[in-house]
Amino acid sequence: VKVLLTGGSGFIAAHIVDILLEHGFDTVVTVRSEEKGKRILEAHANTPKEKLSYVVVKDVAQVGAFDEAVKSSPPFDYVLHTASPFHFNVQDPVKDFLDPAIKGTTGILKAIKAHAPSVKRVVITSSFAAIVNADNHPKVYSEENWNPVTWEEAVDHSKVYRASKTFAEKAAWDFVAKEKPNFDIATINPPLVFGPVVHYLNSLEAINTSNQRVRNIIQGQMKEQIAPSGVYLWVDVRDVALAHVRAIEIEKAGGQRFFVTAGYFSNKDVVEIIRQSHPELESKLPPSDSPSDLPANIYKIDNTRSQEVLGLKYRQLKETISDTVDSLLAVGA
Ligand code: NDP
Repeated sequence: VKVLLTGGSGFIAAHIVDILLEHGFDTVVTVRSEEKGKRILEAHANTPKEKLSYVVVKDVAQVGAFDEAVKSSPPFDYVLHTASPFHFNVQDPVKDFLDPAIKGTTGILKAIKAHAPSVKRVVITSSFAAIVNADNHPKVYSEENWNPVTWEEAVDHSKVYRASKTFAEKAAWDFVAKEKPNFDIATINPPLVFGPVVHYLNSLEAINTSNQRVRNIIQGQMKEQIAPSGVYLWVDVRDVALAHVRAIEIEKAGGQRFFVTAGYFSNKDVVEIIRQSHPELESKLPPSDSPSDLPANIYKIDNTRSQEVLGLKYRQLKETISDTVDSLLAVGA
């Protein structure tokens, strides 16, 4: 059984590769350059090339970008689409975020419909960003909720990332409704993802966005003051990766969104876990009487579908943060 995984060089995708190989799938990843592809193969030096290979797709926003990548012999059975920009260095909101997120998603769906009739399901990495209503939280968050962001608001630099995920996911569901392709889709909607780094990382400067706060804490950047948490929901990268693979393995996952979250956290919780798990880092940490900013009356969350349909059992924050710190220390934090 053969899978195409886009954005193979990413933080989450690297864990998906590991689980796909463990579960016996033949895996082809897309990357933006030969160099990134070669690094992935080097990290899996003992994996035979018929089990793992790469194709270069330079710019996912280009018309027809995936037309060649989706053709394969033997043909693909499933596609996992993770490639999408996630950072806060906004220069041009349309070119840097909206185009790659939205056109990347519709582009791969069109390419599959036109050139890869064997594909049965496409799993798309969406986000809690496509669920959250930051100005007016509902009582309970679940797959029922959609970010109400408008096109006019989308170019606002502080909103563009969340808008890119919202419009990309909407475009995918619209595509399936209108085009009625041979495949169905499922989306995985995680909030902030923490966890060990297994992708190529030459320096902690280049750490993926969602692990940045853990790096900042262990480098002493919050020693004087803990930065505002900003978001309060999290999930472990290994659980997110497993959710993607289960979403192709489990028939009834088709046609559904999955809100995958382990629960609440604050930066203060992360600090206290590190104080326990890595006492040698004490001198970098803020004082233990620093307050937590987790609101007392925070919205509730309902992740039942992910547990019942995908069978996820979520890792706890303690394990995740401790493993994340170990992996950052190994890179040289
Ligand atoms: P990374 O930045 O590590 O991975 C992003 C991946 O997308 C990389 O492979 C990157 O390629 C690729 N990519 C980004 N922009 C483009 C582009 N314009 N054209 C082609 N490829 C591109 O982040 P994550 O692993 O965290 O993100 C993976 C997915 O998960 C994204 O869809 C993100 O929105 C989603 N997500 C992440 C969350 C998190 O907290 N980490 C939470 C919710 C959703 P390259 O390496 O070449 O830059």
